[in-house]
Amino acid sequence: MAHRPTRLYEAYVFDMDGTIYLGDELLPGAARLIAELRRREIPVRFLSNNPTRDPDMYAAKLTDLGLPTGVDDIANTVVTTVRWLADHRPGAVVFPIAEEPLCRALAAAGIEISEDPSRIDIVISSYDRHFDYRKLQIAFDAIWFHKRAELIETNPDRYCPFPGGRGEPDCAAITAAIEACTGTKKVASLGKPDPVMVEEALRGLDVTPADCLMIGDRLMTDIAMAADAGMASCLVLTGDSTREQSEALPAHRQPTYVVDRVDELLPATVWAERGWTAA
Ligand SMILES: [Mg+2]
Repeated sequence: MAHRPTRLYEAYVFDMDGTIYLGDELLPGAARLIAELRRREIPVRFLSNNPTRDPDMYAAKLTDLGLPTGVDDIANTVVTTVRWLADHRPGAVVFPIAEEPLCRALAAAGIEISEDPSRIDIVISSYDRHFDYRKLQIAFDAIWFHKRAELIETNPDRYCPFPGGRGEPDCAAITAAIEACTGTKKVASLGKPDPVMVEEALRGLDVTPADCLMIGDRLMTDIAMAADAGMASCLVLTGDSTREQSEALPAHRQPTYVVDRVDELLPATVWAERGWTAA
C-alpha cells in the first residue's frame, strides 16, 4: 500500500456514503476535490449499493450539498438490478422485496411484478424497511413450494451505517432469511463488490478499468470490487474500514492507496499548484 497517488487517473469512481458525505454533511476536502477533477475535465462517477433511492435522488442530494451532479453520473443497485434482469432474464415475472424506487424502476422498464407465487420467476431480495412475514411467505412459496423462482439480491451489505456509529439492517439480512427457509442460494448479487457495478459506472466512457481509480470507505465492497475489476483503489478512512483492517488483508486484496481525507487522492503536485493545505 502506498500513502497517496503520485499520478492522475483517467476517471474516478466514488462510493458516496462515508467517502463523499456522511449523513447530510460533505466530508473534508470532498467539495474541492470534485471541483478540481471537473475543472480538469476528468470524468467523475458516483456509486451506491443502496436500492432505497434512485439516481435522481442521489443527483439531487449531491447537488444540494454543493456538488452539482447529473443523473448520468450516478449508478446504484436500482440501475444494475433492472439492467441485469433485462440482459439475463428478459420476460421474467418478478417479486421485489423492495422499497418504492426499485419497484418504480422495474415498472418503468416494463418488467412484470406479481405477488402470485405460482407465476413468480425471480424473487428480488433488497434493503426493504417494510419486510414482513407475508413477503417471506410469498418468496418461500415461489422458490420452495412451486420450485420455479430464482433468488437474486440487490446488494450484499449486512447493515447500512449511520452517523454516530449506529446502523440499520440491510439486504443481506433479508437474503439470509429467504435462503434459510428455502435451502437455496441467490444466483446473483448486483451491488459492490460484483464488478457489474463498475461496468455500469464506466458505461459510455472510453476508459479501461486499469486507468481508473475506485475510492471508497469499505474494504469488503469498494476495495474488493476494484481488485476484482482490475482497478487501482483508494481506501479513505472517513467511514467504515480502518487502516488495521486493511493491513490485515492479503497483499493482493489491499487497497492501492490509503488516505485520511478524500482530497489526498490528488497528487502532491496538484496540491502545490492549487496552493492547498490540509486545513
Ligand atoms: Mg461507503
